[in-house]
Amino acid sequence: MATAVAAQLIELQDLDTRLDRLALARRNAPEHGHLDAARSDAQQAAQRRAERQARFGTIDEQIAANEKESEQLGVTRDRLQAQLRTVFATREAEALMHEIDTINARRGELDDAELAALEEQEQLMSELDADESTEPQRVEAVGAAKAALDEVLADFDSQIAAAQEDRKSRVAAVSAATVARYERLRSKLGGVAVARLNGRQCTGCHLDLSPGELDLVRHAASDELVECPQCSRLLVR
Ligand SMILES: [Zn+2]
Repeated sequence: MATAVAAQLIELQDLDTRLDRLALARRNAPEHGHLDAARSDAQQAAQRRAERQARFGTIDEQIAANEKESEQLGVTRDRLQAQLRTVFATREAEALMHEIDTINARRGELDDAELAALEEQEQLMSELDADESTEPQRVEAVGAAKAALDEVLADFDSQIAAAQEDRKSRVAAVSAATVARYERLRSKLGGVAVARLNGRQCTGCHLDLSPGELDLVRHAASDELVECPQCSRLLVR
């Protein structure tokens, strides 16, 4: 038979266990993970976009450098061609023609490189466009995940607030010294300060009490709080 204080404590314990579970469930709500995933997806897309834009800029610089080199080579070639028209010695003419050929070959390489660079830019542009077209979906996914999480948290918060209100009145019904003892045990014993006696067994530590211990528990005064000899939780008879 449970004494009045013990009955109040076991109700307080049940309430605290419920509050602990609510706090844990609030912390572990899968909606946190959904929001993290949506945010990470959006961040990765932003990162990809920044990388592509940077690459696009690098290619612009390469193209400008190629064009400058090609232009300078063109000036040199024009000069060599003018020079060629004034030369009569075969060997000198051959040397100049060789130089002109070399310049033309290099300009051909530069043109090929520019073509490849423009193709890469085109590819980057289409990737950037594709990213841009799917961006609203990512923004929406983050918004939806945030809203879902907020809703779940608000639900937990209202349950927790109601339980805490309930707790206040329960705590007020028990003496301050008993509450202090209860709180001390709870923080020491993983949140569970009160256990029921189920036959010979303590439901807190699941150990059997010896006949002698059982006798002491049974003969304790009805308003006395008895501790389990094994785990020291308050035993409700
Ligand atoms: Zn015990």
